[in-house]
Amino acid sequence: MTRGSPTSLWRPYTQMKLAAPPLEAVATHGTRIRLADGRELVDGVASWWTAVHGYNHPHIAEAVSRQLSAMPHVMFGGLSHAPAESLAKRLAALLPGDLDHVFFSDSGSVAVEVALKMAAQYWLNRGIAGRTKVLAFRGGYHGDTMGAMSVCDPEEGMHRRFGAWLPEQIFCDLSRTEAEIRSLDATLAHHRDVLAAVIVEPLVQGAGGMRMHPPEVLATIDRLAKRHGIPLIADEIFTGFGRTGSLFACEQAGIVPDIVCLSKALTGGTMTLAATVARTEIFSAFWSDDPAAALMHGPTFMANPLACAAANASLDLFEREPRLAQAQAIGERLADGLADLHGRPGIADIRVLGAIGCVQFDHAPDLATLKERLLARGVWVRPFGDILYLTPALTIDAADLDRLIEAVVQAACDEL
Ligand code: PLP
Repeated sequence: MTRGSPTSLWRPYTQMKLAAPPLEAVATHGTRIRLADGRELVDGVASWWTAVHGYNHPHIAEAVSRQLSAMPHVMFGGLSHAPAESLAKRLAALLPGDLDHVFFSDSGSVAVEVALKMAAQYWLNRGIAGRTKVLAFRGGYHGDTMGAMSVCDPEEGMHRRFGAWLPEQIFCDLSRTEAEIRSLDATLAHHRDVLAAVIVEPLVQGAGGMRMHPPEVLATIDRLAKRHGIPLIADEIFTGFGRTGSLFACEQAGIVPDIVCLSKALTGGTMTLAATVARTEIFSAFWSDDPAAALMHGPTFMANPLACAAANASLDLFEREPRLAQAQAIGERLADGLADLHGRPGIADIRVLGAIGCVQFDHAPDLATLKERLLARGVWVRPFGDILYLTPALTIDAADLDRLIEAVVQAACDEL
């Protein structure tokens, strides 16, 4: 395959005509990716933030393999199975408060679609019409499907061309300052009769640029949403399962959102699975003698038993191994290692939260060159926009983590 030659494989977010051909991965192990040409790369992004236990963890592999022999898949309409039943109970027990009602789907974007539909129908089922809009935050990212795109940052380039197809939503700045808090409060008050929900990525807007906010900001958003009687959807698709140092980011703000979206690391990054989890107040609006009050959603591969087995095995690992302490230790090492870049001309910001480390330039670097420099140092890191970030597996050892940090610091210095 050469640059610009048409291929049958259409790749994500890629101008196929211009992009260099992708690297061919042939195997993964621990925190390494092996390429067809024999190179082995240290993975700095855990495959889009999913592989929290590293690749090929034997406990997950065994659980999936056992499930594969017993029942790889069965439809979820009218049938149920132990892997899904057990996973739902475990998630409900782990999530704060009465977030007890778990709806499975198969990707993060769909988990967000389900959350938006839940919120919209929650009002309809209560006989309240007209609450059809969602308040979202500028800089946010919630996925690539229609509803999810409608709540992504409205100015961000990648979804703007679909504007005409998307429902119009209401946007606010994340409430960091007193003025922003007052503005959010006023916007919620003004639109409360049309708002079905507020949606937020707790503690860090990931794909929107690894923009972090303190737990107090999240607590304020929750408090204001509650004050105006508007359900809060916490999109924990990136942050869930240890990434920010707690199992769920919401815990750090001590809040119980009305709906939580989970995916990515839910299966330890091995299978595609997502969950939309609702509080009892939301679920109760669907609990009815009226068949039309049911939630009208049901993906074919909903609650796939292999994926549920992987997720149960992943939760076992969170119970048995010190993942949250590992996330914290990674954060400390990242903060220390990236500190060298603080204040250098060309660097706008260095930020760390849990096992996320981010270098922000004050300009848009040439991403192709930056990626080449990183590859030449034997690491797999995916800069985007004006940022270079690390979100390694929580199991990464000190030597691989140091190699990642060194590669990022050197690549950033080469850029300055
Ligand atoms: N929500 C958040 C916060 C995400 O980070 C992502 C993906 O990066 C999504 C939703 C969409 O998930 P998926 O790519 O699995 O559809």
